[in-house]
Order: sequence, then structure tokens, then C-alpha cells
Amino acid sequence: MTTDSWINESLYPDWGQRFLVTRELARVKSDFQDIVIFESSSHGRVMVLDGAIQITERDEFVYQEMLTHVPLLAHGSAANVLIIGAGDGGVLRRVLQHKNVKRAVMVEIDGEVIRLCKKFLPGIAGDAWNDPRADVIVGDGIDYVKRAQDGSFDAIVVDSTDPIGVGEVLFTDEFYQNCARILTANGLIVNQCGVPFMQADELRETSLRRKQFFPYVTAYVAAVPTYVGGFMTLGWAAKSAGLTTVPVAEIRARADAAGILGTTRYWTPEIHAGAFNLPPYIEMHMP
Ligand code: SAM
Repeated sequence: MTTDSWINESLYPDWGQRFLVTRELARVKSDFQDIVIFESSSHGRVMVLDGAIQITERDEFVYQEMLTHVPLLAHGSAANVLIIGAGDGGVLRRVLQHKNVKRAVMVEIDGEVIRLCKKFLPGIAGDAWNDPRADVIVGDGIDYVKRAQDGSFDAIVVDSTDPIGVGEVLFTDEFYQNCARILTANGLIVNQCGVPFMQADELRETSLRRKQFFPYVTAYVAAVPTYVGGFMTLGWAAKSAGLTTVPVAEIRARADAAGILGTTRYWTPEIHAGAFNLPPYIEMHMP
């Protein structure tokens, strides 16, 4: 269908962005959420879940690079990585860029998101779906972490929707307790934690929850243009100290060894180190 209509993001009842739609590609009500994928005149193809902008071809690199490269390079030797959500495959692709990753398990609750992203947003995941190290499971992340073995992952990346609806279980005590159990002794978890200028409760409340099970809790920021409201925060919870203060030179060396250096458009060793310096309006929500 070719239209010159607009799609308004409905994440906030009284404020939001809109996109001029040049072509609607998919509109599906799955068992979990409303999924819309369309071609915009400004940001390439866009996916919306339950009215919230999830990803655009034009700026997805910002979020995917920061959600993936920061934890894996801070850890330094993550071999087994668990990805929860991330149905578009963008995080999977970037995790698999790391040469030292041996296994990337991705648990996405909605198979329709994977199907539609493969069909209409193939560039996001590239050929990550076919990587022999990838294990893609359609299932609920909270069930997966409940059943996973102790100490079976070095890093967990939670790229979920916000804690309303199907994503809510990924922001609970039970979820974080199981994540702490299945992570190795120097393991860490990062998760999409909203835009604190508009969603401060999400950052504050989930940071307090993580603090119950992890000694080192903070957040780091990324400027994602279509997550409106200023900095996007990525929640950080680690079992060991010092992972957020790795010197820039060491980050650079690790990125070079991992095959990441020179492949990014937002992440750099300096941006990585600087992202943990939170402005006071965000720092105030840290436990
Ligand atoms: N990077 C974009 C962002 O942060 O907005 C895209 C996020 S990604 C599309 C969010 C994914 O989380 C969705 O595909 C959704 O189906 C998935 N999700 C939500 N709740 C989940 C759960 N309990 N277990 C696994 N996946 C879940």
C-alpha cells in the first residue's frame, strides 16, 4: 500500500514523534503485540511494537553497538553470551562480530518479530541467523533464565521492550536473581532501560532490583535519535569491580583483538569510557 500518511509514536500520551510513511510493509497482531513495519521518508524502514518505535534502519547502529560492544569489551573474554529479546537480530549480529564469542543464545518471545524482520529488515541481522555459533530460540526470556545452568554465561544482553506488557517480566526480581545465578563469577548483564528524561522510574526501579543481586550497578548512555527525550540509558549490573573503568587504551586493544575496531559508526573506545559518566539528572536515579 503506498500512502503519504503519518504514523505517530504513541509511547507517551502527550508527546511523541511522527514519521511520514511512504509505504506500509506489514501490520500484524501477533500473540504478544501489535507489529508494524513501514518505509519512512526520513529513517528508512521502521519497526513499531505496540505503538513504540523499536528500530529504524537509519539509527539502529547507535543502540546495537552500545548495547553489545560495551559489555563484551568491558568483560574482555566473553565466550558465552545470552541475548534476550532483540528479535530484529541486530544485537546477535554484533555479538557474533566478536572473535572470542563461542556461543550466542538469543531468546525472543515473538517468532513473528523474527519472521517479519528477516523479511522486511534483512540488513539489521545480515547473515547472523546462519552463524553456527548462533542458537535462536523462540521463547520467554524469564523461562529460559529459570532453566539455564549456574554459571553458563559470561554476559547477558537484554534488548527488550519496555516493562509494560510482554516485556514486564524481564524487569523483575526473579529475572535478575536467575540472571545472577547463570552468570560466571565476573559476568555482567546490560539491558535497555529507557529514556530517563521521560522514563526515570524504569531506570530507578530496575536499578534497585539489580542491586539486590549484583554488587556493581550503574548505567551508561547512548544518544539514539529515535528514542526521543535525550540520552537512552542502558542498565549495567556486574559481579566484579572495575569493568566500567577499563582504560581507553585497553578497550582499544581489546576491540582490535576482537575484530571490532574500525567497524563502528557510534562506538569508539573514548565513547565507551565516557558513556559511564552520567549527567546529574540521570545519576540521581542510581542506587
Ligand atoms: N532495539 C530496539 C529497542 O530497544 O526498542 C528493539 C527491541 S526488540 C524489538 C524488543 C523485543 O523484545 C521484541 O521483539 C519483543 O518481542 C521482545 N520481548 C519482549 N518481552 C520478551 C520476553 N519476556 N522474552 C523474550 N523476548 C521478549
